[in-house]
Amino acid sequence: MAGSGRRPLVAGNWKMNGTRASLATVEGIRDGLSPALLEKIDVLICPPATLISSCVAATYGSPIAIGGQNLHARPSGAFTGSISAEMLADLGAKYVIVGHSERRAYHHETDDGVHAKALGARRAGLCGIICVGETMEEREQGRALSIVRAQLAIGIPKGATAQDTVIAYEPVWAIGSGRTPTPAEIAEVHASLREMLDKLVGEEAAKIRILYGGSVKPGNARELMAVENVDGALVGGASLVAEDFLGICNAYA
Ligand code: PEP
Repeated sequence: MAGSGRRPLVAGNWKMNGTRASLATVEGIRDGLSPALLEKIDVLICPPATLISSCVAATYGSPIAIGGQNLHARPSGAFTGSISAEMLADLGAKYVIVGHSERRAYHHETDDGVHAKALGARRAGLCGIICVGETMEEREQGRALSIVRAQLAIGIPKGATAQDTVIAYEPVWAIGSGRTPTPAEIAEVHASLREMLDKLVGEEAAKIRILYGGSVKPGNARELMAVENVDGALVGGASLVAEDFLGICNAYA
């Protein structure tokens, strides 16, 4: 948000979508971002791990960063099918999403596991995007703030900095649903997360970006990105179409 001193980050999470044909989407995003906009915001695409290398090549020489969607906490070892932070960094990734609600729901990731993965990201020099968010049931029970604050407190590494950590508030019920919280509800959660960050990391808290994620589209991006303490977006579905993702980035134009 303007005036905060924090540089907005618009990040796309492709989830388990994309083959080599999708490099055309990355190229479309690369070619559609104006130099003036790239002066103001950071742009990140997190494709499936199979495409990281080719996306890094496709964005070579541009400020677009490429990231992973998940990692194993350990640097190497007998963990068949897993990918470490070091491996992501070796491919040219700069960020990695940690603790996305789909990982928590389908792969039973816990807050302690998220913490270990965030430490792994930092160890390899990656910026970890730590995701937090409540379910609709938790919101209806009036527990949204206590849930996300606990997820943040346990997940974030001690001494986290703006270089190695981004937070993403993603209400589980807003992901892929077309529903979003109201700007006032988002403002309340982001203010609470920032206050919690202050308790956890002191004055560095003011520099750490807190993204909003959950059904961000070109049509609502301007309103959502204008909310106080919203420092960018984590975008799922709309990041799969270059025009839509560019429309969201252009909320900052
Ligand atoms: C996400 O998966 O992180 C996400 C926010 O998805 P969508 O934008 O599709 O709601």
